[in-house]
Amino acid sequence: MNIGLEPLKRVYKIFVDFDGTITKQDIGEQLFLQYGDTEKAEAIIKRISSRELTFVEGWKALFEILHSVSIDELTNFVHSFEIDKAFHRLVSFAREHQIEMIILSDGFEFYIRTILERENIADITVYSNRLIENGSGKPKPVFPYRDEECKDCANCKRNHVIENSGDDEFTIYIGNGSSDVCPAQYCDFIFAKDSLRKFCEKEKVTFFPYDNFNDVVSKLETLFAKKRLKKRHQAELRRKNLYKLG
Ligand SMILES: [Mg+2]
Repeated sequence: MNIGLEPLKRVYKIFVDFDGTITKQDIGEQLFLQYGDTEKAEAIIKRISSRELTFVEGWKALFEILHSVSIDELTNFVHSFEIDKAFHRLVSFAREHQIEMIILSDGFEFYIRTILERENIADITVYSNRLIENGSGKPKPVFPYRDEECKDCANCKRNHVIENSGDDEFTIYIGNGSSDVCPAQYCDFIFAKDSLRKFCEKEKVTFFPYDNFNDVVSKLETLFAKKRLKKRHQAELRRKNLYKLG
């Protein structure tokens, strides 16, 4: 008879950004540079990056300068973008370890789905903004996951992190941009590049730098092999503070 205590099985959750993280380029931005007035698109993108515009304001401004373009043409354009091929390694790694992986994007579902289907990984859960066709020949953006209190992001990634992970679980965040800054801070292990990395360095938030998903998987293998794994204290505090606010 085995009366020894079974070690508690660690539960991990992986949250991953899409544009510039899974894909090499930011498809959301490239769409407007290609099919909108390029100069105006560049100016708006700059104002979003500098936080002069909120994401919702920015997306709405970008859709205003979008020329009339068919969904077929957009789809073809989307197909010209590559993903980081090593992302497939992370998908296999997550499956092998039965880890749920969720894509959180402040971009749009139609191009994310297009890419995931092409890559045969369409079963991954995605939370993102959406487009609707209103018959004008121009798609219109809708933001089903906007937070009522905080207007910074179009899709509140933080809420998805909180709603999809328990306090006893180890949360992993992988991202590269300004919409990743907030949700990453609620996670235990942060993989950061580009502006997310700059933020972590400046604010002394513990993170792992990465160039591609091979780096991420190698690091995760090391972490998973550890006998003891500590949750990130600052992330725990942030969660607690959020619960207090209700
Ligand atoms: Mg990104």
